[in-house]
Amino acid sequence: MVDLQGQYQGIKETVDTSIAEILESAAFINGPYVHKFQESLEQYLGVKHVIPCANGTDALQIAMMGLGLEPGDEVITADFTFAATVEVIGLLRLTPVLVDVEPDTFNIDPVAIEKAITPKTKAIVPVHLFGQAANMDAIMEIAEKHNLYVIEDNAQGIGASYTFKDGTKKKTGTIGDVASTSFFPSKNLGCYGDGGAIFTNNDELAHTIRGIVNHGMYKRYHHDVVGVNSRLDSIQAAVLLAKLPKLDGYNEARRNTAKKYNEAFEGLSGIITPVTKQGCDGICDTCDCHVFHQYTLKIEGIDRDGLVQHLQGKGIPCGVYYPIPLHLQKAYADERYNEEDFTVTNQLVKEVISLPMHTELTEDQIDFITNAVIEFVTK
Ligand SMILES: *Cc1c(COP(=O)(O)O)cnc(C)c1O
Repeated sequence: MVDLQGQYQGIKETVDTSIAEILESAAFINGPYVHKFQESLEQYLGVKHVIPCANGTDALQIAMMGLGLEPGDEVITADFTFAATVEVIGLLRLTPVLVDVEPDTFNIDPVAIEKAITPKTKAIVPVHLFGQAANMDAIMEIAEKHNLYVIEDNAQGIGASYTFKDGTKKKTGTIGDVASTSFFPSKNLGCYGDGGAIFTNNDELAHTIRGIVNHGMYKRYHHDVVGVNSRLDSIQAAVLLAKLPKLDGYNEARRNTAKKYNEAFEGLSGIITPVTKQGCDGICDTCDCHVFHQYTLKIEGIDRDGLVQHLQGKGIPCGVYYPIPLHLQKAYADERYNEEDFTVTNQLVKEVISLPMHTELTEDQIDFITNAVIEFVTK
């Protein structure tokens, strides 16, 4: 599904030199690379504050702690996402409110959000799933109307932009009150271990969060709030610093692959290729509205398990993200939920399949993959 060794070859010299330097200097934690990466990412995103931390799950949790959310507060998020999003809501004893997603973009459905709002609702967590921004026009409007925080889970969307109806364009993760991202190796901007970050334009919130990531300390050994220990180490920061200048190129490579997949599957009955929204009908050459963390097909009337087996038989990896709706997971099931409110997610879990997607796919590999899919579908 990913080719991290191939990508490493392109940055090997920089990464090796930086890591050797860190080993020599022994500045493993909070060394100069962490600060340099933080500043570079702030510049790239056009956001005032980036606070690095240990992983994307921590980033979400710390964002919620920073906003002062309290037990009993309701937080609305998507039923169709990676579990980390709902996990931290549960860990903080907040009340998760899972809602359905849109059938074409797989992203949280603004109509479902609005329906789920109660006097206890405090925040909305849109996930920019598979690399495409959620409908931020509608989400920001709902948040403003009901005085709710917006926490963007940007773990899959780094480098993507969202174009508002009025034409303004912003990078995902810089739109809501605060955002989280993950630098897990397979993410669009991945390090060689675990890593994450929180973004915000709010000075006060940034200050609060900088203390939270460091045991609640704003002055050494003065613990003003309950915090956590969540740091990005220098070696990971050096890897990220080497990759950041290449991120747009990496994302373009992903888009090009998506385009070739789309072309190969055009007109194939039962195969629905990813839908790119925000005024693009397809995948344009210049736009960055989708960064294809995953290339996910919907299949209709085709035996998905059979297709998975067919591809695996040819040595082609594929993935089903996600096979079970969160509201049906043991840890998150709740009597509050009605099945009729999750018709889209319940259907998607049966129809989605993600093909290999990374920055190193060759023309031949893409042909091999698409031919294998077509062979199964048309047999
Ligand atoms: C990967 C991911 C996370 C968690 O990131 P980690 O760094 O693995 O903790 C959170 N949300 C989404 C949507 C993700 O894809």
